[in-house]
Amino acid sequence: MSQSFTPISSLGEFGLIDRMQSRLADIPRSENLIVGIGDDAAVYRAGDTKLHVVTTDVLIEGVHFDRTFIPTSYLGWKAIAVNVSDVVAMNAKPLYATVSAGLPRNFSVEMMDGLYDGMAEACKAYGMELVGGDTSTAHALYLSITVIGEVDEKDVVFRRGANVGDYLCLSGDVGGAYAGLKVLLDQREQLENMGDSYEPDLEAFQYVIRRQLRPKARLDVIEGLKKAGVRPTSMIDVSDGVASEVHHIGLRSGVGATVRVPAVPFDPETRAVADQFMDDVDAYALFGGEDYELLFTVAPEDVQAIDDMEGVSVIGTIEEAAKGVRAYSPDTGLMPLHPAGYQHFDGPPQTDYETNDGEEGPSFGDTEFSGDGA
Ligand SMILES: [Mg+2]
Repeated sequence: MSQSFTPISSLGEFGLIDRMQSRLADIPRSENLIVGIGDDAAVYRAGDTKLHVVTTDVLIEGVHFDRTFIPTSYLGWKAIAVNVSDVVAMNAKPLYATVSAGLPRNFSVEMMDGLYDGMAEACKAYGMELVGGDTSTAHALYLSITVIGEVDEKDVVFRRGANVGDYLCLSGDVGGAYAGLKVLLDQREQLENMGDSYEPDLEAFQYVIRRQLRPKARLDVIEGLKKAGVRPTSMIDVSDGVASEVHHIGLRSGVGATVRVPAVPFDPETRAVADQFMDDVDAYALFGGEDYELLFTVAPEDVQAIDDMEGVSVIGTIEEAAKGVRAYSPDTGLMPLHPAGYQHFDGPPQTDYETNDGEEGPSFGDTEFSGDGA
């Protein structure tokens, strides 16, 4: 017997997706397919001028969330919102969702009500319908959500359209979801150490905890851009951290970029958390994941319109590919910006619970099939 066994973790996230793609390469490709694997969502022609976009995500207990700190209604909301975020990153509007749920035996009817109430609330907020799914028993709570959206062909935005000279823009603020996770993990540790005598203090950090547990998809931002007459040249949602997403745009567009670190916005509460843990708040903002803001590029003639928009920041510029992805700050000057951390940091903040528990090795928690990043 010489059957070989290669652990899947040896591939890394990008290697895993490449490997899957190579196994699927023989499937005849429809001429109506515009983008398959490699963006936030797949895009196909659905009429003369309409495109549909489709994305799917799983949330697994113990990998993506910890049921001890997320109320089931928030989990339901988040499961829909993170998929809507990928649809919005194509400049598309979400229409329909299907939900498959694996429910553990200890899951109560009340928890299930909360879960589906949260999903209903998100569907209402994003103007979409939940049209089907499947349920099964499972060893841990498992949710798989698919969202289909629609966009006019003239409006669709991919990761691949950034041009040298474009400006790099970001909606909202970043680093908050990571700060929220830090607070929650810290509270859990204190609870474990001190037992019943411990009283959790979450009052001071409501904003960042909400950023972690109940993120918003920025449908309002693409609506605002449309109103302002701006069509981004490329776009991605911030699920893995700003630095990582800039690399995705660079890779797909064949460009480099410089991120101006002081221009990357974070909330004062995010700073307070970083200060409390004696961390660098810029690392939270650049490498913290799960903020679900939109990172996009605009042509130089559109930058004035962006400056006039509230809640959107210009954080850098697109440059030749040979320059790579760099960060600039007055303190450090220009330096390479790695997808998951500056070289002089000990390592990137990890938003994966497994990794936070000290386990080694790459995680596939955010691998998605319709994109090459979550
Ligand atoms: Mg995405």
